[in-house]
Amino acid sequence: MKIRNVETFPLLYRLPMPYGDANGMKRFRVCYLIRIEADSGAYGWGECVDSLETLHKDFHTKLIPYLIGQSVANRRQLIRSIKKQHPRAASAVSMALAEITASHAGLHVCDLWGGRFRDKVPVYASYQSYSENADWQKQSTQAVERAAAEGFQLFKVKIGGKSIHEDQEHISSIRNTLSSGMQLILDANQSYDTAAALGWRSFLENMPEVLWLEEPLQIKFTAEYGLLRQRMPVPLAGGENIEAAADFLPLFLQRALDYITPDPLHVTGIDEYLATLNMGRAFGIRVTPHTYDGALTRLYALYAQASLEPFSKMEPDAIEPVEWDAMDNPFTKLISIQPVNGEVVLPSGTGIGAEIDKEMLSFYQWDGSSYE
Ligand code: MG
Repeated sequence: MKIRNVETFPLLYRLPMPYGDANGMKRFRVCYLIRIEADSGAYGWGECVDSLETLHKDFHTKLIPYLIGQSVANRRQLIRSIKKQHPRAASAVSMALAEITASHAGLHVCDLWGGRFRDKVPVYASYQSYSENADWQKQSTQAVERAAAEGFQLFKVKIGGKSIHEDQEHISSIRNTLSSGMQLILDANQSYDTAAALGWRSFLENMPEVLWLEEPLQIKFTAEYGLLRQRMPVPLAGGENIEAAADFLPLFLQRALDYITPDPLHVTGIDEYLATLNMGRAFGIRVTPHTYDGALTRLYALYAQASLEPFSKMEPDAIEPVEWDAMDNPFTKLISIQPVNGEVVLPSGTGIGAEIDKEMLSFYQWDGSSYE
């Protein structure tokens, strides 16, 4: 079975109301999808993230001419080669080829990976808490309240972009709205040094509802994470920008984190992503995906969580949650699955068991103009 055709779909949405985190304000959201078709008629979708200009140029000048005529079954060899040309593009190609292989065999992608342990996976509502409005704290708190009313149980909010005092005021205001059993994730986007991160210690001391503190430090400071982990009263998480399974090893070996947060778009290729999850299990460190960009990537992350062994014999049904972008972003709706009471019931069927909304592909098509 050989690759017959590759189509590309660069999508852009300019945000009417920018939002952001400690890294600054976002003024647009982008999405880059590909659809690979084999000569058997089977097809698969893939997704990647990078500048639309760079992706589009590389796909059309190098990657598509290389892929046409190649064997779908040689997925890992092809990914190895594409990785050298454009690592981010390799993620999209790996997803599309995995879907074609599964569809051709009449299987679901989870079956290719050895089958599911569960059909439901929890998700957390993920926010970019900052805006350019003076009342950002109030807006953020109200957004969490609305998601709680819709059934979400877990919420990620941002810290690290304002003074610690302002951020703690914000977290206290959200905490007051939570019902029993709801939990919070605080994400600092690598804003602090160890001394500043320890400024959160007393605040977090009696907050059992904090599920984890994410990336208080630059992720390269492995030893400092190890020290911080011994001194902080809440679990630590990180690693969303790490690009290879092996690059998580220092974090595992130094017992620097309680959770790793690999992103299927940053760890190059879906096979490498699965290897990362299994390494987490081998080292007894929990794995919770970062999936802020893209509905297809999130679907793959949900399937990977569904196919992952439980982390505990005591809680065989428990599984770490998947990130669910709760901000203004139409691309989260490219696939129609929605959480109910904070959980997603996973589609069955062959391939990925879901279709991409094609009307959205034409509505949001990037026209090639500059947007950054
Ligand atoms: Mg993060």
